[in-house]
Amino acid sequence: DRLASDLRSAIRTIPDYPKPGIMFRDITTLLGDARAFRRAVDELVHPYAGAKIDKVAGIEARGFILGGAVAHQLSAGFVPIRKRGKLPHRTVSVAYALEYGSDEIEMHADALVQGERVVLVDDLIATGGTATAAVKLLRGIGAEVAAACFIIDLPDLGGAERLRAMGVDVRSLIAFE
Ligand code: 5GP
Repeated sequence: DRLASDLRSAIRTIPDYPKPGIMFRDITTLLGDARAFRRAVDELVHPYAGAKIDKVAGIEARGFILGGAVAHQLSAGFVPIRKRGKLPHRTVSVAYALEYGSDEIEMHADALVQGERVVLVDDLIATGGTATAAVKLLRGIGAEVAAACFIIDLPDLGGAERLRAMGVDVRSLIAFE
């Protein structure tokens, strides 16, 4: 459809970044395009208009930009989920496997209270390692993950399926092979 093709054309693809063989989907061009940025945020927000969403959790770093805009539109609070060692107060963390080695994400332990409804936001889901860890973090402190939304899904990498298998409602605006 029209929306998907408008958003798709606002995204720049960088071959062999950050490593040979990777096609990096660069959303800075979408963010810099006023219409595309607004459309993307409006589409991310649309299903939750009028729903009771307490918080939006955004994953460092591009999830902060999108999540901040989404939180504002929903009149919800914003919770940053960051790479290990960046948050100043007491944190909860979840480690997840990478292709080589592992990584860890963190959130402030008091960022949410039990039972709050959260929408998780990031720019892109690939293997789902990052988003799966984020859902574990949020559920671990008793939050209810209403949905996880992304601008881009890379369905071949299976991340969205992995999240759905955890019972998460997953939404994305466009897919790239
Ligand atoms: P996953 O954990 O699902 O394998 O990878 C998703 C995470 O890596 C997201 O936080 C996303 O921002 C980042 N990422 C991986 N590949 C790309 C890409 O091609 N473009 C962008 N913009 N982010 C990517």
